[in-house]
Amino acid sequence: MLKHNHLFIDGAMTIAQGEDELPVTDSFTEEVFARYRSASREDVQEAVAAARRAFTGWSNTPLNERIAAVRGVAAALSVHSEVLASAISREVGMPCKLSARIQVGAPIAAWESYAELAADVDWETRVGHSLVQKVPVGVVACITPWNYPLHQITGKIVPALLAGCTVVLKPSEIAPTSAFMLAEAIHKAGLPPGVFNLVHGSGPDVGETLISHPDVDMISFTGSTHAGRHIASVAGRDIKRLALELGGKSAALVLPGADLSLAVKATMASCMLNSGQTCSSMTRLLVQRSMLHEVEQLAKELLAGYRMGDPADAGTRLGPLVSKMQQQKVQAMIEAALAQGAQTIESYQPVPDRGFFVPATVLSEVSPDMTIANEEVFGPVLSIICYDDVENGIELANGTEYGLAGAVWGPPDEATLSVARRIRAGQVDINGAPFNPAAPFGGFKKSGIGRENGKDGIEEFLETVAIQLPA
Ligand code: NAD
Repeated sequence: MLKHNHLFIDGAMTIAQGEDELPVTDSFTEEVFARYRSASREDVQEAVAAARRAFTGWSNTPLNERIAAVRGVAAALSVHSEVLASAISREVGMPCKLSARIQVGAPIAAWESYAELAADVDWETRVGHSLVQKVPVGVVACITPWNYPLHQITGKIVPALLAGCTVVLKPSEIAPTSAFMLAEAIHKAGLPPGVFNLVHGSGPDVGETLISHPDVDMISFTGSTHAGRHIASVAGRDIKRLALELGGKSAALVLPGADLSLAVKATMASCMLNSGQTCSSMTRLLVQRSMLHEVEQLAKELLAGYRMGDPADAGTRLGPLVSKMQQQKVQAMIEAALAQGAQTIESYQPVPDRGFFVPATVLSEVSPDMTIANEEVFGPVLSIICYDDVENGIELANGTEYGLAGAVWGPPDEATLSVARRIRAGQVDINGAPFNPAAPFGGFKKSGIGRENGKDGIEEFLETVAIQLPA
């Protein structure tokens, strides 16, 4: 059993003083494989105080030195890539091979991508007789979820540090290992004391103490819309700057003339990635009724490939969900959809006798008013919904309270692009175009406020000052 008792405050590993000992569960064996102590209220206060003390020095550190420091941390972190990939895989359930690439390789590459883009920010411009400057917001509380733990931490810490902010991170209590390892890398890379601080613990306890602290200038949160709503109310009460990356119910809209086979394959891959525990996954497939039969056949063939098993096994395509609670929630949502009239596309996969598994599930005959068509499932469940004409398809794509991502499949022409322009979501892919880490990422409506990634991600942590120059 691994025991972690340390936090990282003011440049030093310190012993957590909280009363709770939190378990980390292996989502395949269902066994607790690590325990760690949570921070006390005083630990959180000390972390914020350290971040405040460090702010003046760090915000005045030349940009090229901040960039070099970020690159140093990425190098120290990448030494532990393999250990990180397997720890995240145990915590979250993602197959190891995928975890190495997506949970670790991609975020470490993102440290470099942010470092490259930092010089492109308009740090100082002239507008008439005014000097318009971008300056760091201050001390940022970063709160992150479990599904892509290192990726979510990266999307906050790196741009915040490049902007010149100092941070206190409270990672997910369910998947804390990457944060422990990041603190070690930061320690090794020698970032000035107080620039980065780490406190562990549950959301309502340690998270709440952190976001309510009067000396925190900004809250950057990724997680559920439910918790996001509460966090926004705290930020509103104290007039703190706020960035929210929340849930999604993204749709892939398949237009007449699209390559159906590619569209279904890519949508299934997006929906089932990380066993459906991906905020920006396509979880609704919108097709014209005339396409339905072929789409169902294609989905049925593809379902046969989603073999469940030990995430450490190279042949495993679909890992377990993160927890028993998540497994039960997803199963209940599937049952409720069937009770409301949805149909499952038949497929059989042996379910391992341990692990929080839910088989890859495709539901057809889903109507837009069903719960499953509107609420985030966060499991491997794709809903096929029929539209009448393209106008109706666009309406359905935009018809939920979320707006995180979308996809449009159609002939490679202006008409397809013009449909993509009408999707009310933060990122829209046409015909399977790959993810671009330099492009902004974030949501409309209840999917959030603000943007991560690229130059926009850094600007999220900056205030704007106009200095009027005398004639
Ligand atoms: P969650 O909201 O339960 O928890 C997220 C984090 O918030 C955790 O660290 C938790 O401890 C903390 N927290 C909870 N209550 C808090 C409070 N009162 N004060 C301060 N902190 C608090 O979410 P989760 O289950 O960890 O993650 C899954 C959710 O995250 C899904 O809804 C998913 O869509 C969303 N998500 C969104 C994005 C995005 O970029 N839009 C990315 C990943 C996940």
